[in-house]
Amino acid sequence: MSRVLIIGAGGVGNVVAKKCAQHPDVFQEIILASRTRAKCDAIAAEIRTLYNVEVKTAKVDADKVPELVLLLNEIKPQLVINVALPYQDLTIMDACLECGVNYLDTANYEPLDTAHFEYSWQWAYQDRFREKGLMAVLGCGFDPGVSNIYCAYAQKHHFDSIETIDILDCNAGDHGHPFATNFNPEINIREVTQVVRHWRDGRWIETPAILNDGCVHFSFDYPEAGPRESYLLYHEEMESLVRHIKGLKQIRFWMTFGQPYLTHLKVLENVGMTRIDEVEYEGHKIIPLRFLKALLPDPGSLGTNYTGKTVIGCVFKGLKDGKEVRKYIYNICDHAEAFKEVQAQAVSYTTGVPTMIGAMLMLKGIWQGAGVFNVEQLDPDQFMEALNLYGLPWQIVDFKGNLPK
Ligand code: NDP
Repeated sequence: MSRVLIIGAGGVGNVVAKKCAQHPDVFQEIILASRTRAKCDAIAAEIRTLYNVEVKTAKVDADKVPELVLLLNEIKPQLVINVALPYQDLTIMDACLECGVNYLDTANYEPLDTAHFEYSWQWAYQDRFREKGLMAVLGCGFDPGVSNIYCAYAQKHHFDSIETIDILDCNAGDHGHPFATNFNPEINIREVTQVVRHWRDGRWIETPAILNDGCVHFSFDYPEAGPRESYLLYHEEMESLVRHIKGLKQIRFWMTFGQPYLTHLKVLENVGMTRIDEVEYEGHKIIPLRFLKALLPDPGSLGTNYTGKTVIGCVFKGLKDGKEVRKYIYNICDHAEAFKEVQAQAVSYTTGVPTMIGAMLMLKGIWQGAGVFNVEQLDPDQFMEALNLYGLPWQIVDFKGNLPK
């Protein structure tokens, strides 16, 4: 009997729970827990109607290890799928270690008081997971996640050595709001306002953050979406790919932003609304970015009228049989189609489907091992097959376009 505990009932949690419920042969018992139980109950009710599957629900504050331990000891799952926020990664990993449960997440740990994310905190759990014979899989959404799997697949089947990787993330959709973020607003804004880094010839190179003079951008011609301005950004999967793709000389991450998004964000930044330190307001202490989150549309609710597509993929340059080869692997996902299937927009969908697939491979024993793994360290073949079967089909083509030097 396989039993999974999903923690987090937001935009991504909704997709993960529904995609798991579509496969009752693998996910025989599903428990959905979060800080606000009512959100879990609402998703469970939809799943009952859609698939005639019972999902149990629970309330948990995942910042508190003892609460998590109590819940894990009561449920005794084989696997915890963490789709709460990056702040909870370490407490959930601690609880998994204490209760002997495997772990999978989609975003690397970030401390609440500093907008800085890196894998070192979670990689430090390597020996403890290994000693207990447990598996922790990190970053199994789309990017990180599928982007890393594309790299592992390209390395395994199409290159003798990969020299450069450009990850290109385009959301060519329209949600109809003047300003909204496609996943948790706090995490999103912390991420995109960071100083940008990319990796070249063995070191990280810093360039200005996206709203600042000198930020690097260019127009990339995305399949179906057409030319879109794409901005150099720091993204967490580069840190692990630099380690695991041998011989890599350069890796960059690009993301599209529309002008209205950038203009709103610039104004919000200028007036201090993106600050993450405490501010005294009428006798209360508030964190401006958290207050802003309360005002912005819930990303989980954006799907209703979302049109257009996401196009996310990787361009590789490298050598095969002594010749230079350039390949592009990508997925196109339609917001409205995602909504029709699981009542979610494509950003939640493209994150939640790979999360379910990673969990499925772990439960089936196809992905196994003791320790902490980034997904590119695991065999990509069955994951790539599953992407085609479960909603995120991909294409691989010879790349004929242009990228900045
Ligand atoms: P949401 O804000 O929509 O949902 C987060 C959920 O976590 C909410 O249900 C929230 O509960 C719950 N939560 C927050 N804090 C706690 C806590 N202390 N204890 C228990 N539950 C808690 O975020 P998303 O669904 O958009 O994103 C989920 C995760 O997915 C994030 O970590 C994000 O970074 C990651 N992500 C990864 C991507 C990838 O491609 N790899 C892409 C997009 C997202 P409440 O409702 O009470 O606030």
